[in-house]
Amino acid sequence: MSIHVSDSSLLPIAEKIQAGTRLSFEDGLVIYASHDLPAIGAMANYVREKLHGGKTYFNINLHINPTNTCFMSCRFCAFGRKAFDEKSYIRKPDEIVKRARECMPEGCTEIHLVGGLDPRLKIDYYCSYLSALKEAFPHIHIKTLTPVEVAFIAKMSKMTIGEVVQKLADAGMGSMPGGGAEIFDEEVREQICEHKCDAKGWFETHREVHTRGLKSNCTMLYGHIEQPRHRIDHLIRLRNHQDEFGGFQCFIPLSFHPANTEFKHLPPPSGFLELQTIAISRLMLDNIPHIKAYWIMLGIKQAQIAQWFGANDIDGTVVHEEIYHDAGATTPTGMTVTELKRLIRECGREPVLRNTVYEEIGGPAAT
Ligand code: SF4
Repeated sequence: MSIHVSDSSLLPIAEKIQAGTRLSFEDGLVIYASHDLPAIGAMANYVREKLHGGKTYFNINLHINPTNTCFMSCRFCAFGRKAFDEKSYIRKPDEIVKRARECMPEGCTEIHLVGGLDPRLKIDYYCSYLSALKEAFPHIHIKTLTPVEVAFIAKMSKMTIGEVVQKLADAGMGSMPGGGAEIFDEEVREQICEHKCDAKGWFETHREVHTRGLKSNCTMLYGHIEQPRHRIDHLIRLRNHQDEFGGFQCFIPLSFHPANTEFKHLPPPSGFLELQTIAISRLMLDNIPHIKAYWIMLGIKQAQIAQWFGANDIDGTVVHEEIYHDAGATTPTGMTVTELKRLIRECGREPVLRNTVYEEIGGPAAT
């Protein structure tokens, strides 16, 4: 299959893609400078179909935020609340189990839990909710705690990151989500979230997870104050880590939502930038198997189109998402399996039900 390219600056890159040659930092910048979106999409789709054919993965999952209280003040965040805020909450382990029981969709295989950074909560709190969930739902995979949360728990509990990861794994953590990566570049990070765990801490946490044989995901928050060079640097840092440890299963480019944040004066990322970034992620991250178009943040329509721009996953039912809805996301807070499958089929892809670690699941929900 040959890739049609109108912008001649993309020709050497299209040749590299077809030869299976790794793209450089400079290649990434050339693609970001190009407006030949059909060619960028075709290159990404070439890689996507080579890896996954026409499959689009989805899962049946449930989101619960154990707490929204947060000690930090990331400028892009609309979710974290100070402890004195009347809308702040900490859910006790039995409340988390109750919420899971009440909201769990049929066929659910995953509970995803992330929250704010509250110095009052130590390792025992996290292990308690993990044990309580594992006892109530032994068959459910628990994906919990971003590297930023894990590093913070380690600091607050006076433990090493490795000790915290081990305790969480012993209590039932099945894998780690990839949030908190934002943009790794130190100067950008200083301006958007200067107090939270830096790139070194973020990668150290993943290393502790991966060397224990557990999987995790990784993300990038784009479309705020960063430049294309920061995004490419971010992707190459992830690629380098993956070369060494190999534990990332999915990359999720997160489109910034400015509403209700300190950056509310910024325009939201354009549709063009969203598709370009998904495609570039697929092209640069040649060693991370899956690229997710997270429908909650992208919107359902863009998540469908993204399936032709390098993405091969759309996330899942995501019942009761709160974080991006606090930042003005207008998508529903959950979707049914029937709706997900219809949306995937409508865009010409084959819906494939998966679990958290990308094993394909058969049975009634899958068809
Ligand atoms: S992004 Fe996370 S760490 Fe930053 S303020 Fe929001 S909840 Fe807190």
